[in-house]
Amino acid sequence: MHEGYKDWLQHYGVIDKHLDTQLSQLRKVEKSYGDLYEYFKKGTYEEKILNTLEYSKDDERENKPNPSKIRLGDVVIRTNLQSYKKAARKYFKFLKEQNIETYNEYLNILNSDIKQSLNDSSKDIDKRLKTAAKKPNKRTVTITVYDRNSDVIAKTLTRANGICEECNKPAPFIRKTNNTPYLEVHHKIMLADGGDDTVKNAMALCPNCHREKHHG
Ligand SMILES: [Zn+2]
Ligand SMILES: [Zn+2]
Repeated sequence: MHEGYKDWLQHYGVIDKHLDTQLSQLRKVEKSYGDLYEYFKKGTYEEKILNTLEYSKDDERENKPNPSKIRLGDVVIRTNLQSYKKAARKYFKFLKEQNIETYNEYLNILNSDIKQSLNDSSKDIDKRLKTAAKKPNKRTVTITVYDRNSDVIAKTLTRANGICEECNKPAPFIRKTNNTPYLEVHHKIMLADGGDDTVKNAMALCPNCHREKHHG
């Protein structure tokens, strides 16, 4: 088990009582399967671990044998495997976060966490928020930037003359740094998709329209 894992759990609001349970469950998974980090590195953890900890209510009804490598003795298979699976899944989430190197990876993980949180009950969320660390973790990631041509930006802004080229409404405010109407220059075919950094491929947008182009 990774040495930073305990701190990570605490940071995200897992309280002491549950902390020991989760750590001992994880230790038991590792005892049965070996070092989970090895599965993580090979990308086989879903198939070789998490899937084998799956035991449905139907399986229970049909009295199917324990599909996992964990020896359970005389306990309810389904609920026990469920909690081992939860403990293992959390650890893989931690390992994933440890390996974030780029800003895009960071955003992907954040977005999938938000999706997960939106599906959780507000009771669960409130419980976690109560014990979660107030100061965020800091991490350094690499970000890929494109060296944009300032003449393309200037020429596109002049063409728009303070009016959004999508909704035709005036810019919402004046930019402090140079007293010009605040519009953002967007590439119709994005640079990341191989688009040109040219006036023809550019448009000046109000912040709302710009957000919609990217997230709508
Ligand atoms: Zn607009
Ligand atoms: Zn854009």
